[in-house]
Amino acid sequence: AGRAEAEALQHADVARLLPVPGAESDKYRRGVVGIAAGSARYPGAAVLAVSGALRGGAGAVRYVGPAGDAVIARFPETLVSDRGPARAGRVQAWVVGPGIGDDAGTVAEVVAADVPVLIDADGLRLADADAVRRRSAPTLMTPHAGEAAALLEVSREEVEAARVTSARELARRYGAAVLLKGSTTVVAGPAGGPVRVNPTGTPWLATAGSGDVLSGLAGSLLAAGLSVVDAGSVGAYLHGLAGRVTAQGAPVSAEDVAGAVGRVWRDVREVG
Ligand code: AMP
Ligand code: MG
Repeated sequence: AGRAEAEALQHADVARLLPVPGAESDKYRRGVVGIAAGSARYPGAAVLAVSGALRGGAGAVRYVGPAGDAVIARFPETLVSDRGPARAGRVQAWVVGPGIGDDAGTVAEVVAADVPVLIDADGLRLADADAVRRRSAPTLMTPHAGEAAALLEVSREEVEAARVTSARELARRYGAAVLLKGSTTVVAGPAGGPVRVNPTGTPWLATAGSGDVLSGLAGSLLAAGLSVVDAGSVGAYLHGLAGRVTAQGAPVSAEDVAGAVGRVWRDVREVG
C-alpha cells in the first residue's frame, strides 16, 4: 500500500492545536487579525467575517474597508481603520476577499503583506497568481467548488468529481495551502503530502454567509500562530461542529454558526 492520500483530522489533534492564552499573554501576543472585506453592496460579508474572527482566538480584530459602520454597530470591540491594509497598523495575519466586490487594489495590498494571508471569495478572483506565488509568508486559499473551478478553468462538476486532486492542483499552482469547501471539505498543503479531510459539518451550513464566518475564524487562528494547514483544518473542524450543534436538523443562519464557536471550542478542549 502506498502513502495515504488523505487523513481525517482527529478531535485530539484539534484540542492540542487550539490557542490558549497563558498568564503572560496580552491581546497583541494573542495575535491581531486584519479583515479586508465588504463593500457598499455587501457590508454583511464584512460583519460575518469579523464575527468569525472574534470567535477564533486572536486577541484583537482590525477591520479595513467601507463597512466600518456596520461592523462597529454589531461588534464594537473591532478596531476599525479608515486606511488601506498597508497603513492600517500591524496585524499577524490578514483575511481578504469576502464581499469585497471589485476592489483589486485592496487585494493586491494584502497579497503584498509579509504576514500569513487567507484569501477567500472575491479575493480569489482578484488576486494576481504570480503575486501570490511570490509571497514571502504563507497563504491559505479557501474556495468553494465554483471558485476553485473558475481558478482551474474547469467545470464545477469536474471539481466536485475530483475534490482532492483539485485542491492539490490549486495548492501546487499557487504555492499555497488550499481549503476546498463543500460537502466534503479538504485541506491541501503548499508542499504536497496527504490532504486533510474534515470529518465535521452538515449540509445546513450551505447557507449565505457561512463561508465568510469560516474565513474570519480560520484567519484568527492564523493570527494566533497556527500554520496555514492547521488554521484551515482546525477552522473547518470548529465551523462544522458549530453548524451541527446549532442546526440539529433545522435551518441555521451564518451568524448563529459563529455564535456557537465558543461552545464547541469548550467541548473540544474537554474531550480532547
Ligand atoms: P461559502 O460557499 O463560501 O458560503 O461556504 C459555504 C460553507 O458551507 C463552507 O464551509 C462549506 O464547507 C459548507 N457547506 C456547503 N455545502 C455543504 C454541504 N452540502 N455539506 C456540508 N457543508 C457544506
Ligand atoms: Mg463564500
